[in-house]
Amino acid sequence: SAGGRGVVISDNWPGYSLDLFTYPQHYYGDLEYVLIPHGIIVDRTERLAKDIMQDIGDNDIVVLCVLKGGYKFCADLVEHIKNLSRNSERFISMKVDFVRLKSYHNDQSMQEMQIVGGDDLSKLTGKNVLIVEDIVGTGRTMKVLLNSIEKYKPKMIKVASLLVKRTSRPDGYRPDYYGFEIPDLFVVGYALDYNEHFRDLNHICVINDHGKAKYRV
Ligand code: 5GP
Repeated sequence: SAGGRGVVISDNWPGYSLDLFTYPQHYYGDLEYVLIPHGIIVDRTERLAKDIMQDIGDNDIVVLCVLKGGYKFCADLVEHIKNLSRNSERFISMKVDFVRLKSYHNDQSMQEMQIVGGDDLSKLTGKNVLIVEDIVGTGRTMKVLLNSIEKYKPKMIKVASLLVKRTSRPDGYRPDYYGFEIPDLFVVGYALDYNEHFRDLNHICVINDHGKAKYRV
């Protein structure tokens, strides 16, 4: 797509000091730094919406939001697409559905993934599907999801992920649209969690050791 690798955040990027922004008091002392401030997430999402409109405008699409981490990005992306659609000659008619992926280990080596919730996936047959996810790491999760959805023979499948991690594997999966390419760090905020905490943080941040210990389960 037009955006190439998205906004590339390099490995030596020190981030922004937490003192420069506001964030919930209950996370004071738990974070290392701000990797991506909320405003930049919103601005980049607006551009992704424009790119998506350009490519698949004038279609009916089914937006498939991957919960829970994808809910903020999905809501903001859909909102931007709606605004663009309302203010231009091109329009997209959107249905939104939600799925959750449950991974479970049945033995040491095999990790299985199960899609739960949402409408019957057979409704995707013949449809234009836009999968919206928070982050692609190794890409394993997305490959499993794509495999299961392809079985229902949609007309088109596109994937939008807010973040892509630079992992050691150069052949790693790359979504059709993504906002930022980030270092191989564990990030939280903007609906991304650490053991269900930090979803209510609006910036994307890196947790510190104190935060990790505090919310460890
Ligand atoms: P993958 O299968 O691509 O390695 O991992 C993808 C899934 O792992 C994502 O959907 C997300 O749920 C989780 N994940 C990977 N990296 C992070 C991270 O840095 N922070 C959070 N909160 N979740 C992550």
